[in-house]
Amino acid sequence: MPELPDLVYLEKRLPPLVVGRRIAAVEIKEPIVLRMLLPGDFATTLNGAEFTAVRRHGPFLVFSLSEARELVIHPMLAGRFQWTKANEKIAADCALSFECEAADKTKHHLRYRDDKKMGKVYLTRSDEHQQIPKFDEQGPNLLSADFSLDYFRQKIKKSRQQVRVLIMDQAVVSCVGNAYADEILFSAGIHPKTFCYQLDENEVAKLHGCIIDVMRWGIAEVEKANAPLEVKARAHMRVRNRKDQPCPNCGAKIRRAGVRGFDTFFCPTCQPLAREQFIDWRKLDSSPHE
Ligand SMILES: [Zn+2]
Repeated sequence: MPELPDLVYLEKRLPPLVVGRRIAAVEIKEPIVLRMLLPGDFATTLNGAEFTAVRRHGPFLVFSLSEARELVIHPMLAGRFQWTKANEKIAADCALSFECEAADKTKHHLRYRDDKKMGKVYLTRSDEHQQIPKFDEQGPNLLSADFSLDYFRQKIKKSRQQVRVLIMDQAVVSCVGNAYADEILFSAGIHPKTFCYQLDENEVAKLHGCIIDVMRWGIAEVEKANAPLEVKARAHMRVRNRKDQPCPNCGAKIRRAGVRGFDTFFCPTCQPLAREQFIDWRKLDSSPHE
């Protein structure tokens, strides 16, 4: 899925492209992604609408349109955007294509591509988001003061989950997915199979700091990569998808494991498995009572 750094990049790149342009035509290739929350037909309703702003709300991209309407796109697992010249061939995974006309009549296409067809495209009245699943249930923006250490401590304390599952829970913290979850745990030196209750206070504080730092680093790296919108910049990843490559810290081979059906990548040396749940007999043997 697009994760926070990808979404921040889209939030920055999309407005100068589309704002002020009018939708001259809509081509629907995959109607399965559409959710019409207004009366009427999707393409007809959008015809002639002007893009007035683009913002991000958690993993949703919200395109404001003239006449108090919004196009809200939730890319889910595989959705991505593409900005092309009008005559460029439509990719096989293209779900929707908007012909955008500028004031000088030049035309470009904004395309929404989704090879898993799991993303959703809603057309709604502005600020009427109750009908959009998960829209109002996003956890705090991790770049804001709302994502405080106190808040995070409370969530960790209440959770019976593995740490990796918790930090990917969108209701706890918005927009951390598989790739950055691995990078965050690597930075924090936490094994991906660690449970929340196994972390001590210092580790929780370290993890909280790493979530913020790794995401800020990701944002800077994606910005630096300056790739076309449809390309997910991932070359900066240190452990993600790097099985058998040397760990950038210690040189050990990066391993892959499964956590709750998801692939996870980690360094077995920098991220040792927590052992508090086992009785440490050596410690007992050397206790001063004996
Ligand atoms: Zn290592």
